[in-house]
Amino acid sequence: MWQPELETITRDELRMLQEERFQRSWRHIWADAPAQTKLLHDAGAERGDIRSLDDVHKLPFTDKSVFTEHYPFGLFAVPPEAVVRLHSTSGTTSKPSMGGYTYTDMVHWKDLVARVCVMAGVTKRDTAHIAFGFGMFTGGFGLNYGLEHMGVRVLPMGGGQTEKQLMMMRDMGSTVLVATPSYALYLSEAVREAGIKEDLMLRVGLFGGEGHTQEMAEQIERNLGIIATSNYGLCELGGPGISGECLLKTGMHIAEDHYFCEIINPETGAVLPEGETGELVVTPLTREALPLIRYRTKDITKITTEPCKCGRTHARMSPTLGRSDDMLIIRGVNVYPSQIESVLIRQEHIGPHYMLVVRREGVMDTLEVQVELTDGAVLDSFHLLEQIQNNIREQIRNILGLTVKVTLVAPQTVERFMGKAKRIKDERGM
Ligand code: ZN
Repeated sequence: MWQPELETITRDELRMLQEERFQRSWRHIWADAPAQTKLLHDAGAERGDIRSLDDVHKLPFTDKSVFTEHYPFGLFAVPPEAVVRLHSTSGTTSKPSMGGYTYTDMVHWKDLVARVCVMAGVTKRDTAHIAFGFGMFTGGFGLNYGLEHMGVRVLPMGGGQTEKQLMMMRDMGSTVLVATPSYALYLSEAVREAGIKEDLMLRVGLFGGEGHTQEMAEQIERNLGIIATSNYGLCELGGPGISGECLLKTGMHIAEDHYFCEIINPETGAVLPEGETGELVVTPLTREALPLIRYRTKDITKITTEPCKCGRTHARMSPTLGRSDDMLIIRGVNVYPSQIESVLIRQEHIGPHYMLVVRREGVMDTLEVQVELTDGAVLDSFHLLEQIQNNIREQIRNILGLTVKVTLVAPQTVERFMGKAKRIKDERGM
């Protein structure tokens, strides 16, 4: 373990540490973050309302829209000269969320990412190939800092240039691959096509930046002969390092000494009991530049505090089922792309690349699943095509209770993604 005294702290001691850190962060917000104080005040919350963490559920949520309204630095709680690093979300549809770090925030960040890497079995003898984007995205630099902090040899490759990626991976003897799962899958296919799997030394995958199904992780593991692990982070909360999987792979251990987590019903906002599935809400406990109260992540997951055999006492969150933003409502049924992915990836003759197209026909919403065949020859067999389509349709109906249209398309025709995959085309109301 990277910080064993903190990672194996007893649950009682952890609660005391969280309490102390939360009180400090709460005082910091009231003293130094006027825009956040105003939000609290407007929602009817006052400084004296909070006696302990048990009262946190009474406080209002923050979300991405608060970042947009206060772009760029309105939520910050330190003067500009105390900020040593800025990152941001991509902000494709609105102003990006700006994330900021003081020197101390950076020190914590390195340790939190190093914890995640050690949990996944990385040691300082490893060589890590980072195929995350660098730049404003927190993934590339975050993993870079954490791995370097551990003494790992780092290759900051960034995304794109597949051939060069494969060459460097082979020639540098990379043992760790850092990427989004969709890009890792893409690279793993390129490795298979180039027939160089045996020339590679890869043994561990550190995947984050987007959710993925168990089935997809297994496919990457098979293609590359590695152990795939997931980790989780969000720019608004300080980037990667919030949680990561240990090698027992029974959920991602949350750095609870730095993040207080709740699960809520995304529709009502009510806090749900342990073990129930809902939206993850995070209150960071140690951030100086950007402390926050109850940030709604939009990620759907569940949390358990049952002890893990690895010895870490921190709670575990399940791999995210999807974002509440990505949840489609089709004819009254809640649909997460990951549910459809888990059907597709078990099916023979088709690859892991797919697109979900939602349309409105009259008053009816329809969902079309476009999925790519691995072998174009199948297109010549009407009988086989029909059989595959029926199979997929039947299994989706079993899981979702919804009849969808399944379209099989030729190999290499569904869009590939270097970063986060965008698998939904919603054409309703367009
Ligand atoms: Zn564990």
